[in-house]
Amino acid sequence: MLIEQPPLILRWLYPKALWRMDRNDKSVYLTFDDGPIPEITPWVLDLLDKYQIKATFFLVGDNVRKHPEEFKMILERGHRVGNHTFNHIRGFEYLSENYLANTDKANELIKSDLFRPPHGHMRWVQYYTLRDKYRIVMWDLVTRDYSKRLNGFDVFLKVKKYVRNGSIITFHDSLKSEKNLKYALPRSIEWLLKEGYTFKVFD
Ligand SMILES: [Zn+2]
Repeated sequence: MLIEQPPLILRWLYPKALWRMDRNDKSVYLTFDDGPIPEITPWVLDLLDKYQIKATFFLVGDNVRKHPEEFKMILERGHRVGNHTFNHIRGFEYLSENYLANTDKANELIKSDLFRPPHGHMRWVQYYTLRDKYRIVMWDLVTRDYSKRLNGFDVFLKVKKYVRNGSIITFHDSLKSEKNLKYALPRSIEWLLKEGYTFKVFD
């Protein structure tokens, strides 16, 4: 199964979720999951500022609680934020009531109308409940920057190979992806700009 680019069957599971934006528009949507953390998030923000790019950060509520300064930096620099649960939990492993309570708890801090489920899955009842309250944002291209089996160059190649008009691209501002992110993100941005892509955030 193609992991970097989710297959149609998966997209059909959550039909109202956003997987890819306008395919006639040469734009991409950069998203960063799992922050904020002081070790990586400010580095990402500085890089985005350098290119005057806005992005969307899907935040873990507990990280926002622990790192309010970095959370504030994301907002002050004009980026979009979304809810990624309070404890980065997997929908299938939790009773829906508890899963939903965990997302509510995160949103007391994050206050967003965007939601992305950790690990890309939710039970249907979770999905149907959440989609009334949030726009559910999945992705068109996951770079797998967190993978130990990939190096930074591999991650950069995946961006070049799979990106297309309207792609929602997922990176991670996490310790696990630090090395690959620091290699691949600046190169990806340079390459995308050279190819004529513009960078957008969700309305
Ligand atoms: Zn995540």
